[in-house]
Amino acid sequence: SFNFASNVQELAGESTLVYQEIARKVSKEKGIKTINFGIGQPDLVTFKRIRDSAITALQDGFTGYTPALGIDELREKIAQYLNRYGDVKKDNVIVTPGAKTALFLGFILFVNPGDEVIVDDPSFYSYAEVIRLLGAKPVFLRLNMRENGFSHDLKSLEELITPRTKMIVINNPHNPTGSLFDPHEIERIMEISKERKIILMSDEIYDNFVYEGKMKSALEDPDWKDYVIYINGFSKTFSMTGWRLGYVAAREDIIKKMGVLAGNIYTCATSFAQKGAIASFDSFDEVKDMIELFRKRRDVMYSELQKVKKIKVIKPQGAFYMFPYMGDLLRAMGMEIKDFSVELIKSKGVITIPGEVFPKDVGKDHVRLSFAVKEQDIKEGVKKIAEFVDERL
Ligand code: PLP
Repeated sequence: SFNFASNVQELAGESTLVYQEIARKVSKEKGIKTINFGIGQPDLVTFKRIRDSAITALQDGFTGYTPALGIDELREKIAQYLNRYGDVKKDNVIVTPGAKTALFLGFILFVNPGDEVIVDDPSFYSYAEVIRLLGAKPVFLRLNMRENGFSHDLKSLEELITPRTKMIVINNPHNPTGSLFDPHEIERIMEISKERKIILMSDEIYDNFVYEGKMKSALEDPDWKDYVIYINGFSKTFSMTGWRLGYVAAREDIIKKMGVLAGNIYTCATSFAQKGAIASFDSFDEVKDMIELFRKRRDVMYSELQKVKKIKVIKPQGAFYMFPYMGDLLRAMGMEIKDFSVELIKSKGVITIPGEVFPKDVGKDHVRLSFAVKEQDIKEGVKKIAEFVDERL
């Protein structure tokens, strides 16, 4: 009688967690130290000002439901923040339990069974899963690896568009590659979406993690409300992953409809967490320090990885991930990327995420390493990867 609904039968889980679990076992059984390059969150605790603000809210008894769209003061702050990119008002904002829920609302509101949604190959794993969950089809646009980052082939993008294309999803800066896409490239994707009347879902959750170069936001187009569903959140910028707070910016009527959805699904984001988040907008000095710290870690990981034989690594300009090309090495070792990650944990205690977790094909020859890790561990971990490779070549 417990037959799963047909759309969830094939649903892939949080596969990044699988590798943490293997590591936990290995560390328990063999007593070896684990170094975690698999992590998708900053390693800092949420800044004190934000924690204090939530504690005060709790002590003041701010413990009831909030409006489905979020508390006004927070929506106002988010709108003010987004004014650095474009014209956003409070009524263009809904606060959600994490950016994942923001994405979910965006998909559920517009995607019908049988629709097509264009997503990057590789991309954040949950886009394609949720699209399939809704009975729609993810159509993958293969990114090209170039000297200074990955890029979209705009001609291929246009060729992938059919009468059934409902939406294009972009993520800039990009998980898992760490790419900051060329502003002209993003501009062109925006133009294509607008001209062809396709919704552009722009996930900009890493917008503060930019090490060099300029980030183009989809909100910069004065007409953004005609075609953009903008996604962001507090998890990465303010190291608030466990607070579960994200947001959508969109045209006012879309936000209202999302509020109706929210009212039926989860009511609202957590009340005192929202109060804490208000203080996050006074924490940009801390954010700046974190970015400088991450830039240094990036540089260290990049130079250490150069020493590993047969891998090709690009210095990422954004987010906190490296996504080196492993194809030549894997062929030389006679291994697939999944075995590489599993064996690496088992023999050296170093956690990486095999690129195949990020659909669809490109990732099979890549591995994702997060540099949201202490500098000493970065050095030690990459050295162990180099040893692992040397022992097998
Ligand atoms: N979008 C991207 C590209 C991400 O990498 C992540 C987290 O890993 C999310 C969304 C989800 O963020 P949240 O913790 O706010 O749900």
